[in-house]
Amino acid sequence: MRVLVTGGAGYIGSITARALATRGHQVRILDDLSTGHRAAAAAVPGAELVVADLCRDPLAPALAGIEAVVHLAGRALVPESVREPGLYYRVNTLGTLRLLEAMRRAGTRRIVFSSTCAVYGLPGEVPIPEEAPPRPLTAYGASKLAVEHMLRDFATAHGLQALALRYFNAAGASDDGLLGEDHEPETHLVPRVLAAAARGEPVPIYGTDYPTPDGTCVRDFIHVEDLALAHLLALQAPGPAEGFFAAYNLGSGRGHSVREVIATAREVTGRPIAVVEQPRRAGDPPALLASCARAREALGFTARRSLAEMIASAWRWHTSHPAGYGEGSRAACGSGRARKR
Ligand code: UDP
Repeated sequence: MRVLVTGGAGYIGSITARALATRGHQVRILDDLSTGHRAAAAAVPGAELVVADLCRDPLAPALAGIEAVVHLAGRALVPESVREPGLYYRVNTLGTLRLLEAMRRAGTRRIVFSSTCAVYGLPGEVPIPEEAPPRPLTAYGASKLAVEHMLRDFATAHGLQALALRYFNAAGASDDGLLGEDHEPETHLVPRVLAAAARGEPVPIYGTDYPTPDGTCVRDFIHVEDLALAHLLALQAPGPAEGFFAAYNLGSGRGHSVREVIATAREVTGRPIAVVEQPRRAGDPPALLASCARAREALGFTARRSLAEMIASAWRWHTSHPAGYGEGSRAACGSGRARKR
């Protein structure tokens, strides 16, 4: 299939694009390089990179000849969305609306959308079934849920096949060690713990008074290669080709607390990682854990890799790429800052 991967220069996007390309799909990447890396897009075999902003640039050239869109472009940080909700509704929601209108004009009828477990907010039931009512607590979750509603309505009205994949917490690097996580600033737990391990500095734990077994937040971590595989399965999913919308959870179904992640990182790296206990971070629910029953049934998806495997692959990436993708891989419209790592 000829597939447009938006956000394909980003962390999950590049690893997904590479998984599609190495399995015979013809990939084009659309990315504004505001947080993505030219070097990550360049590591996707045969992929052309179109540098464009979903909110501003004409999208017809990127969609020419495209049969399916895997849409990962967007902002994805819970705390940032609490501070800057407008950015999230603009980029995630309006950007996707613009993409859908352009797809309609281009006659592209399949879309796999990168959604999030943040649509559930404070879940009433854990593990969270896919049928649970979405009640997002933050602009991040709400901006993605609004897209799910648009996908449902566009599918009905215009005959799209639209699948939303609600990611839980992605971690790890690509199996070949070429692609990994490089955000600036880095806010995610696993890369922060590993950066702290490498530098011999303490890592903050945000909140130790949650109603969880050890008082720290529990999250469902899923290896980024397992996530990438789920996109491949979604693209090839059987079922109605038109007028169909469904949302699936993508997690491992196993919960790990922040303290457990740090303990596993100590084992994997052999480094003593000190912690500093800090107050809770805004917008963090105590426990997020997926039931992936629908994803298993409809896509044949099961996450295979353990937390230790995720941390080991992230550690290999961190030690082989201490400066991430390095200087010069970001566009001039990016932050333009010096690398810290
Ligand atoms: N977290 C932490 N210290 C850090 C970074 C994150 O304690 O340096 C916690 C955070 O408060 C949350 C969990 O780790 O409870 C996962 O956060 P992350 O930002 O990785 O992912 P999110 O769940 O926000 O998507």
